[in-house]
Amino acid sequence: MDGTVPHQRNFIEKDTAVITSRTRPGSGGYMTGEADAGQCPYCFSVDDCPHLLLFVDITFRHAEGGVLWKVFNEAWSRIEDANGERADFDEDQAFRELLEEVDSLSAFSTEFEHDGGPGGCSGYQVYYAAYPQRANATLQQFTKTARQKFK
Ligand SMILES: [Zn+2]
Repeated sequence: MDGTVPHQRNFIEKDTAVITSRTRPGSGGYMTGEADAGQCPYCFSVDDCPHLLLFVDITFRHAEGGVLWKVFNEAWSRIEDANGERADFDEDQAFRELLEEVDSLSAFSTEFEHDGGPGGCSGYQVYYAAYPQRANATLQQFTKTARQKFK
């Protein structure tokens, strides 16, 4: 597996306008410690980079990029399929629990809102890993956990 994910370019291009308007090259704004939304805290890339674990639309509950996106979406479909019929199924709570699993594997995460299109405002959560060389191990671990905990 060479890690190329066809989806990854899409969201970056879609959000580039927002990100560049906030970071203005040369302004030095991102050198103050906090990375801007959509910008990797490790390599400062605003494009997809090896640190990106998961880029997820929390409004529509759908992962759009990162190493874990495919497994994450599969796990979420399984959860929905298994519980969707239950009257007491708390979809929001279940989604947050799944995100917590990602959070526990990630070194840095950030949340931001993207205001755009007829769909209105979407919230995004982005998770980064400090060590891209462990990405495969992280992917395996998440896959295993998701299968065990969320059936
Ligand atoms: Zn990076």
